[in-house]
Amino acid sequence: PRASVETSAASGKSVENVVIIGSGPAGYTAAIYAARANLKPVVFEGYQVGGVPGGQLMTTTEVENFPGFPDGITGPDLMDRMRRQAERWGAELFLEDVEHIDVKSNPFTIRSSEREVKCHSVIFATGATARRLRLPREDEFWSRGISACAICDGASPLFKGQVLAVVGGGDTATEEAIYLTKYARHVHLLVRSDQLRASRAMQDRLIIANVSEFTTIQISPCTSIQRPWMFQLLQGQVKLDSSGYVLVEEGTAKTSVEGVFAAGDVQDHEWRQAVTAAGSGCIAALSVERYLVRND
Ligand code: FAD
Repeated sequence: PRASVETSAASGKSVENVVIIGSGPAGYTAAIYAARANLKPVVFEGYQVGGVPGGQLMTTTEVENFPGFPDGITGPDLMDRMRRQAERWGAELFLEDVEHIDVKSNPFTIRSSEREVKCHSVIFATGATARRLRLPREDEFWSRGISACAICDGASPLFKGQVLAVVGGGDTATEEAIYLTKYARHVHLLVRSDQLRASRAMQDRLIIANVSEFTTIQISPCTSIQRPWMFQLLQGQVKLDSSGYVLVEEGTAKTSVEGVFAAGDVQDHEWRQAVTAAGSGCIAALSVERYLVRND
């Protein structure tokens, strides 16, 4: 790999090896791998989630499916450990939101309110956010009876054996509802219109799973789908799908722009787990390392 910081003759500014945007499991894992490869990564952690780094898991209590913690671990504790591990290996962390990016020519430009950084490669790990229903007292019951992830919470005592409702009529909501039938006493699917948007195959599975479908709900059509929130930042820079997810070459972290990689929920509309985000952060950092060596 090239030296950690270079001087760009054109701008007189230093050029970093890699900038990582995001501080969820994907961003910190990428930071750990890049730092251990001596790339001295610069990480913009962002602070949208309650003004703290750490991403979505900062909003949850117990994480029971991250390997290595047989008794579970709280989301904030897990993220604090990942952060400390990244710092320990020399990642430079800035608690700032990236406000502008330009990856149209290399070196790329990344700008926050505090600084502008030039870099040879970027990892987008800006995650996703659950669409909220905006119900009265929703914040109070978030992660205490209201969940955005059936796989994460279905087996917990809060939901197990209970009558549950899933809001939404698309494939994702339908799949979550069917998944919950393993644990719940009964599952209702609350859909907005008189028709499900879910595919015929999913609708058939609903009937087999004995999920009740209600069509009288009058609330806004929010679902448990986690939606990338960085649409505007990334639009026009790399190829996105119609929902705003970054498109990557299958099985890789490569986006439509060479030297630009994506990891975690921002490019994953299917699995969206902490461990899959961390795994893709690892792939992105290793890809950066190879890319820099190839282009040295
Ligand atoms: P995120 O965790 O979403 O992190 C994205 C990061 O990017 C954030 O730090 C954000 O501040 C930062 N960012 C965004 N925009 C910018 C910007 N412009 N500049 C700088 N930074 C930016 N998964 C499990 O495996 N087990 C569980 O038990 C579990 N429980 C969950 C409970 C809840 C309530 C929720 C919402 C999710 C849960 N998940 C769970 C899913 C898991 O949290 C996500 O799959 C995982 O966090 C995705 O990681 P990520 O790094 O891709 O993104």
